[in-house]
Amino acid sequence: MQVSFIGLGLMGNRMAKRLLNHDIHLKIHNRTKSKAQDLIQSGAQWCSSPGEAADGADIVITMLADPAAVEETAFGDEGFTCYMKKDSVWLDCSTVHPSFSENVSQRSHDLRIHFLDAPVLGSLQPAEKGELIFLIGGEENIIRRVNPILSIMGKKIVPLGKAGSGSKMKIIHNMMLANAMVAFSESLALAKAEGLDEQQAMEILLQSPSAAPFLQGKKEKIQSQVFDPEFPLQHMHKDLRMAARSAQDYRQFAPLANLSKELFAMAVQLGWGEEDFSAIIKLHRLSAK
Ligand code: NAP
Repeated sequence: MQVSFIGLGLMGNRMAKRLLNHDIHLKIHNRTKSKAQDLIQSGAQWCSSPGEAADGADIVITMLADPAAVEETAFGDEGFTCYMKKDSVWLDCSTVHPSFSENVSQRSHDLRIHFLDAPVLGSLQPAEKGELIFLIGGEENIIRRVNPILSIMGKKIVPLGKAGSGSKMKIIHNMMLANAMVAFSESLALAKAEGLDEQQAMEILLQSPSAAPFLQGKKEKIQSQVFDPEFPLQHMHKDLRMAARSAQDYRQFAPLANLSKELFAMAVQLGWGEEDFSAIIKLHRLSAK
């Protein structure tokens, strides 16, 4: 089976590495070639364009930043979809807006390509260990076809129904993630402002059942104030913009997601977009005396 991987950033690189380590012959492409060097050394076949990567592939996997990046790579000048074989599968793992996935699914169908929106739950460690959770929109028989590849990268594959369903589920997940991060940051900031010991407050909050489990993994970054990216803050801002848009599309009241969106927008403005999304706590610290 010929598999191609396009988009080798923080997540894509690790997912592609898993496939290589499981003896999958992989053609790869990334806008910035330097990020693919380790994969090339591990035996991946470098392709100088997305089209060259997709040419002849049975499965094309994309893990790109946002809808604009997917649009440009797939449908722009020399976009890869026109190089894909009929009846091949495009698995888009990027986190994008659900209506974008629906639209892309239709355009792929017109080109006789099978499209699955397959965003993932889990960050860098799960990607390295093959423990991602795939949330998938699209036809079940196509999901079954790519199952051997998915199971190398993930521990759980969740078929959710028609195209766009995977993206919908991913967006509601990330809005909860962002809101939990903001709530935790705000509580810690108030603890400090009130003269409580911040470390002790963090321990007590993290040991309480009210803390989301992922927050434990952010403890070291918050203590050291070094926010090396696992999940870049600018991507969380993008996801909150998409959540707000979906809420508007469906006339659903989503005040917390909209508020978090503005907070993350401020953090991006302050130049923290490439840091981990837990760097949002710096916003609360700005107001500290
Ligand atoms: P990343 O490190 O920023 O990688 C983004 C990728 O998109 C890179 O390959 C980048 O290419 C490419 N790209 C961006 N704009 C492009 C354009 N206009 N044309 C072509 N390529 C473009 O991000 P990531 O953390 O791997 O995330 C990738 C996706 O997964 C995002 O949708 C994110 O929301 C989602 N996600 C991330 C995590 C996480 O924990 N990091 C977890 C789950 C889901 P260059 O290398 O050339 O910049």
